[in-house]
Amino acid sequence: MKKDHPSRREILGQSAALGALAVLGTPGCSKPAPQLSCSDVSGLTPADVQIRTALAYVEVSMENGKSCSTCLQFLPAGPAVCGACKVVKGPINPRGYCKSFAPKPV
Ligand code: SF4
Repeated sequence: MKKDHPSRREILGQSAALGALAVLGTPGCSKPAPQLSCSDVSGLTPADVQIRTALAYVEVSMENGKSCSTCLQFLPAGPAVCGACKVVKGPINPRGYCKSFAPKPV
């Protein structure tokens, strides 16, 4: 005799398998997004590197509510990529910060 509907045991087995996938995740989905790095100064002159250092540019701001992405000097290049700055030469992390921070007008 042909069976039209899955048995209760079959349904419970499939549910358990889906539950395990939900808990363990699936390959390729559990990797965290790579951190954006905007620290390559190899194309800069020593003077530009010195300015970058003197203004204490950092890749990740420790100043609450202040970061390059909210700075008037920031020149964004797109989502999740390094931008540029009117003051500090070289790649600029949107999450970065330096002493020349000036808030964008609201
Ligand atoms: Fe970032 Fe400083 Fe340039 Fe502002 S001036 S965008 S805080 S590096």
